Amino acid sequence: MKVYKISVLGPQGSGKGTQSALLTSKLNIPAISMGQLFRDEVEQKGKYADEVEKIMNKGEMVPERISKVLLVNRLSRDDVKNGYIIDGFPRNMEQYEYFHRDIDEFTHVIVINLSDEKAIERISGRRICSECGKVYHMVYYPPQYDEICDECGKKLEIRDDDKPEVIKRRLEVYHTYTEPVIEKYREEGILYEVDGDQSIEDVHRDIMKIFTD
Ligand SMILES: [Zn+2]
Repeated sequence: MKVYKISVLGPQGSGKGTQSALLTSKLNIPAISMGQLFRDEVEQKGKYADEVEKIMNKGEMVPERISKVLLVNRLSRDDVKNGYIIDGFPRNMEQYEYFHRDIDEFTHVIVINLSDEKAIERISGRRICSECGKVYHMVYYPPQYDEICDECGKKLEIRDDDKPEVIKRRLEVYHTYTEPVIEKYREEGILYEVDGDQSIEDVHRDIMKIFTD
């Protein structure tokens, strides 16, 4: 059996989490998301919970000493022995360096490209119901009545993470810190680029072409 160790990169809003989830069921290997590792740490009230929560609310980077520990712990579990898909990592050169020095190597790096304009349009349309947790999008999946939850009639809210100033800051971080990492993988010849400005199904189809050899 072929072992795939895959990194999926792309700006916030590119759908890399969704695509990783689709790919995980096709390749039958687990998907790991740094964002999810951070959220789990907060929800499970782990050692770094307070620190991680504050940083995420500001749209800033979680420090490497924390990312590294959370990732090493995750990759020490049995379920990754046949490979894994990791989404949103490495997002800067420091992570790239320590990952390849101390942890592992990738077989494929997929980058889902999306313009800033499209990313902002996608993310800023998101709304959530604080009552039932249902998620909407004002363009792609709107509620029946203006910003009101279909289920419980409560006014929908924008998550702190989805506010325009936080999104813009994240996109800047992506251009400054993640794009140099992408260039490294391009030089190494393991980079596969996919156009993210398509439907979920079409992006998935393009990604699957990489693995039909
Ligand atoms: Zn609701």
